[in-house]
Amino acid sequence: MNPMNQHCPSCGAYLPDGVTCDNHFHQLLFWEAENPALGIVHHLMVLCYHLQHPPLYSAEGLAEGKKLLVAFVAEGVSTEEMRRRNRDRVDSGRRSWKVTARPDSRGAYQQPVRWMMTAADVVAGGADRYCDNVQAWARSVYDTLRESGEIL
Ligand SMILES: [Zn+2]
Repeated sequence: MNPMNQHCPSCGAYLPDGVTCDNHFHQLLFWEAENPALGIVHHLMVLCYHLQHPPLYSAEGLAEGKKLLVAFVAEGVSTEEMRRRNRDRVDSGRRSWKVTARPDSRGAYQQPVRWMMTAADVVAGGADRYCDNVQAWARSVYDTLRESGEIL
């Protein structure tokens, strides 16, 4: 077996030939930069990627990320509405925590989560199916987190 073939420790994606999930993330960002119409699902893509790599978040950031996913996927809240809500909250100075990981606060799930779909699948689907695939990805992340009791 090629020692360069392995699975991502966070999302479990199969990563052949030394490819990393970070490479996939940047491929998806590149497609969005190339074709601005794809940016319509940017918020979902960034959210799914981070929810599947919880050590990128602080503990509070992960909790917030789960709330965002519920709002977008289950409640159908628009990005404009979410921006407005967040602005109100940030303006009121109540956000005293940081979204990204710190040495003393790193996001983690109660149990390891087995994902049905990862960034690797969205990359494999190609730029033409990008928007549909990111939406399917967000739905599958939501379903998986609900099944594992991370989202109530
Ligand atoms: Zn990964």
